[in-house]
Amino acid sequence: MSTGGCLCGGVRFELAEPPVSMTYCHCTRCQRRSGTAASAQARIEPGSLRFLRGEELVKGWKPDDGFEKCFCSTCGGQLFSKSPDGTIWSVRMGALDEDPGLTPTHRQYVAYAATWEPVPDDGIPHYPEAAPR
Ligand SMILES: [Zn+2]
Ligand SMILES: [Zn+2]
Repeated sequence: MSTGGCLCGGVRFELAEPPVSMTYCHCTRCQRRSGTAASAQARIEPGSLRFLRGEELVKGWKPDDGFEKCFCSTCGGQLFSKSPDGTIWSVRMGALDEDPGLTPTHRQYVAYAATWEPVPDDGIPHYPEAAPR
């Protein structure tokens, strides 16, 4: 079973179902949020994330036009995002303890990619804007 948590260890969780897919997002919001050129995230089965401890430490920032970005209020470690109805749909790959073995399916918002880290020529679809759903 996949497990994960934040940098300080205050928040710990497990995934009752294996993550479904993995994607990269190069949008400027993810750059600001993560401090990196792109954010890698795993899509999970809705409802499959269970907290082992520290749920009360989780804080979020909700943009007017997007999912809430949730992080540990003690260490700032990025954890997951939540849809407007409160469902957790995706977990940050860096929050997982071990590689779940997913192959990335696409990169999105590459039109906004950081100039200081070229987007790799990795053979998966690169979408200039949001990936088609
Ligand atoms: Zn923490
Ligand atoms: Zn993004």
